[in-house]
Amino acid sequence: MQTQRLRIAIQKKGRLSKECQDLLKRCGVKFNMVGERLVVHAENMPIDLLLVRDDDIPGLIMDGVVDLGVIGENELEEVGLERAARNEASDYIKLRRLDFGGCRLSIAIDKDADYNGPQDLNGKRIATTYPQLVKRYMDDIGVKFTTCMLNGSVEVAPRAGLADAICDLVSTGATLEANGLKEAEVILRSKAVLIQSTTAISNDKQALIDRLLTRMQGVIQAKE
Ligand code: ATP
Ligand code: ZN
Repeated sequence: MQTQRLRIAIQKKGRLSKECQDLLKRCGVKFNMVGERLVVHAENMPIDLLLVRDDDIPGLIMDGVVDLGVIGENELEEVGLERAARNEASDYIKLRRLDFGGCRLSIAIDKDADYNGPQDLNGKRIATTYPQLVKRYMDDIGVKFTTCMLNGSVEVAPRAGLADAICDLVSTGATLEANGLKEAEVILRSKAVLIQSTTAISNDKQALIDRLLTRMQGVIQAKE
């Protein structure tokens, strides 16, 4: 369902939302976030913002439901692998890596465990929200493992006896430490990215995207 207005999906509430809204504002997009709306119309440009859970953004792009999206590479790659495994469309255009949302996806183990390298993960059960990314990494290095899928509280899984290790997002490492864990391997370094659907769009919309990108370039460079 094509619309005249450019649709941009952003995280409604969470670690990416504030910086994402700030970036759009600095690029000259005027909007007013009020209440619990799913769609917010920009006041000065033909742009609609869709406020959704970050998990939904890759699919909205890959299905061509929205034109642009801002999403963490961790989520984007996980969903892409998951969809590809189900033979669903998983393509997108990466327009730009952004200067926020930085984190790493790491495997962590008991802080007192002896660790000499990835071979020590052989046969372990790893609790994670990112089973596809863990599988890609472990298959690449040829280490066998099993997963335990958890959508929350991943870091307590070892202590709770649900898993031997975890694979989760880390920024400072404080959460790991608080849970008696230490980082063993970094499997992905992630940032927020601006992505576009591969669905054909009008010249007007593409021109607007190009204009936004140029402004974004300026805004991000000015901060560096
Ligand atoms: P939603 O309700 O939208 O599903 P969420 O709980 O899945 O939110 P957030 O915790 O808000 O997601 O994180 C969104 C993204 O922010 C992550 O996928 C990741 O790309 C990025 N991020 C940056 N630093 C961290 C961190 N320390 N921990 C988790 N995510 C981080
Ligand atoms: Zn999420």
